[in-house]
Amino acid sequence: MGQGMSCASPNNHENGIFKAAQMGDLDALKSELEDDPSLLHEFSLYDRNSLLHVAASNGQIEVVSWLLERSVNLDALNRHKQTPLMMAAIHGKISCVEKLLHAGANILMFDSLRGRTCLHYAAYYGHSDCLKLIISTARTSHVAISWGFARFVNIRDGKGATPLHLAARQRRPECVHILLDCGALVCASTGGYGYPGSTPLHLAARGGSLDCIRELLAWGADRLQRDESGRIPYLVALKHKHGTCAALLNPSSAEPLVWPSPLKFISDLNPEAKVLLERALMEANREREKTILKGTDYSVSSPSHSDSGEIDDSLSETSESELCCICFDQVCTIEVQDCGHRMCAHCTLALCCHNKPNPTTASVNPPVCPFCRSNIARLVVAKLSIETDDIDLCSSKSRKSRRSWNLSEGSSSFKGLSAFGKMSARGSGRISADELIDKPNE
Ligand SMILES: [Zn+2]
Ligand SMILES: [Zn+2]
Repeated sequence: MGQGMSCASPNNHENGIFKAAQMGDLDALKSELEDDPSLLHEFSLYDRNSLLHVAASNGQIEVVSWLLERSVNLDALNRHKQTPLMMAAIHGKISCVEKLLHAGANILMFDSLRGRTCLHYAAYYGHSDCLKLIISTARTSHVAISWGFARFVNIRDGKGATPLHLAARQRRPECVHILLDCGALVCASTGGYGYPGSTPLHLAARGGSLDCIRELLAWGADRLQRDESGRIPYLVALKHKHGTCAALLNPSSAEPLVWPSPLKFISDLNPEAKVLLERALMEANREREKTILKGTDYSVSSPSHSDSGEIDDSLSETSESELCCICFDQVCTIEVQDCGHRMCAHCTLALCCHNKPNPTTASVNPPVCPFCRSNIARLVVAKLSIETDDIDLCSSKSRKSRRSWNLSEGSSSFKGLSAFGKMSARGSGRISADELIDKPNE
């Protein structure tokens, strides 16, 4: 699409300005416009793109900035009613997206091709950095007031698909994660509320991305919801020959752990603690997958798994005093506040997570600290400080043989965090759509 932005025009000047905007040749653009200033508001012949469209699609930030200083129309529409912001989101030109948003570009415009917004496009093409920026703009802009932020995140295109549907269909697990985290409805139906249609899980089953399916299931996606043809996601995966996905979606296989998003203290989690817990949840679910996928030709080994192996090794050298007093297996990484008791991320999850909530029996009682039964006000990452004397750990064992953390131990236990960061940064760069699509099932 980017190359298609060059414009054949019978007029040499016109041709020149669009070429200059495409190539980011600001000097050439200035000299063309000196000859004929009216060309500033010209549209290309066939697609009716403005100079701003062309520069934004090609990531020519200098040209974009220069044009904006000349107060060209920020939300100009091309032949398909696409704005420059949509073009930048389609092509993942993050600096241009940022510039246009900063200049006040309208995020609530729908094109005439499929009734999609810039948020749909960022999700569809997997540009998670653009997606984040648009979402954070929506939080603070007039859209949040006039439309409501939650409504914007769940905005529908002409066929009823939300950005989450598109990200799931196009195998964009990172975008799926971001959208769910920002309030995208995991069971939204393309048929509209209360009408049968496809859920994001149906579309992920069709796309065949295990990671998208994992994310959706961990968020409580319903394996039994039927689409307009009466099919559950499992059947969709089978039909499209995604056997491994089908195994996870099979309603008779064990339910995954579900992230306890409704619990208030979980939504108040600080980002570090959240990353730790999310990671532990995914690990727990992968353990469960091992049983489910036994017999399929799928291997569960993955980069995140080998990383965790490494961490376990390095931590096994640490003293027992830092071990979790519930499982005596993992190191305490989470601290309960206000009481200060500590446990590992896995045990924290076991305490807070539930299998898929049954609406008739769902308990809304928040969990309490397993050591002192006091209410959990907050969960934070346990500080692995050298001065551990002031922290009252739970077992007598720990008091007997407490050894302070040295720096290398402390940093190795945080390798998990950075490994996760690396993992989730995947896809945020300029990875082409083809690379992601061609990637075989992991
Ligand atoms: Zn534990
Ligand atoms: Zn406690």
